[in-house]
Amino acid sequence: MTEFDLIRRYFTRATPGTLLGVGDDAALLQVSEGNVLAVSSDMLVSGTHFFPDADPFLLGHKTLAVNLSDMAAMGALPRWATLAIALPDANEAWLERFSAGFFALAQQHGVELVGGDTTRGPLNLCVTIMGEVPARQALRRSGAQVGDEVWVSGRLGDAALALAHSQGRIVLSGEEFAACAPALHQPQPRIALGLALRGLANSAIDISDGLLADLGHIIDASKVGAQIDLVKLPVSLPVSKNFGRSLGVQCALAGGDDYELCFTAPATRHRDVLRISEKLDLPLTSIGNIVAGQGCIVHDAAGKPINLGSSGYDHFR
Ligand code: ADP
Ligand code: MG
Repeated sequence: MTEFDLIRRYFTRATPGTLLGVGDDAALLQVSEGNVLAVSSDMLVSGTHFFPDADPFLLGHKTLAVNLSDMAAMGALPRWATLAIALPDANEAWLERFSAGFFALAQQHGVELVGGDTTRGPLNLCVTIMGEVPARQALRRSGAQVGDEVWVSGRLGDAALALAHSQGRIVLSGEEFAACAPALHQPQPRIALGLALRGLANSAIDISDGLLADLGHIIDASKVGAQIDLVKLPVSLPVSKNFGRSLGVQCALAGGDDYELCFTAPATRHRDVLRISEKLDLPLTSIGNIVAGQGCIVHDAAGKPINLGSSGYDHFR
């Protein structure tokens, strides 16, 4: 199979929302009137972000999902993606499953693959996602205000706990692993939430490196501090069961790969946020507040500040 056969067979689908898609030197895209382009890239490297023998369908899903998550965090409507892929060989069964996982999620969100690059090399997947948002409604990290509540979507720590199990650092029961594994292998980008938060949230970020690290980016960019309550964190039973050992707390506060949104909104809008939660059928939990100052303090059940060791995943630390 030639490189061009491969692109045609596995990565070329109809792109009705695009002036010109795959096949020329560049794609031509038209943003809807009144919107600006939101662009972001995320790369997945074999051995670093996924196991080399990862299920290709789930990997296709996750490759796009982590990128869609950035659009959600920006309050952007995702529209287009490019895919730069390095492959050790043209394994047709693998490509079939990978592209099926990728396009299943793309279709669900109306995203069109409009270009990319294909080369031979150690397995490496890089998506650039493009979406649109009215400039003034984009959810930036820098907008948090003193008096905002801090919210998170979904549950925290499941992906990190499932990973700890997969790496043999803990042992979960079959049932517990089944409850946590989808967060690790099939994260659901919170696109509808990002759109609903336009004009409501003052700041937002997606949680890819752990709550403390990512909330840390919000408060640094906004020049404010935060205080959160450990007991308010939305966690699954398997994560809370491990709260006694520090592992559960680590997973919830500093575990990577959650792809939930963390956002801040004026406390006066509390009910509006809960209405969105109901409408989207997605848990949204107020976990603390934005305060004057800097840094994030986490209080335990007794109201005492807890000592925070590691605060997130950093590739170069
Ligand atoms: P060029 O040599 O101009 O960089 P390529 O031969 O790399 O072009 O790619 C040919 C066309 O196929 C381009 O439109 C490119 O965007 C698209 N393409 C290449 N790889 C992929 C891929 N993995 N997914 C989607 N489109 C791709
Ligand atoms: Mg090229």
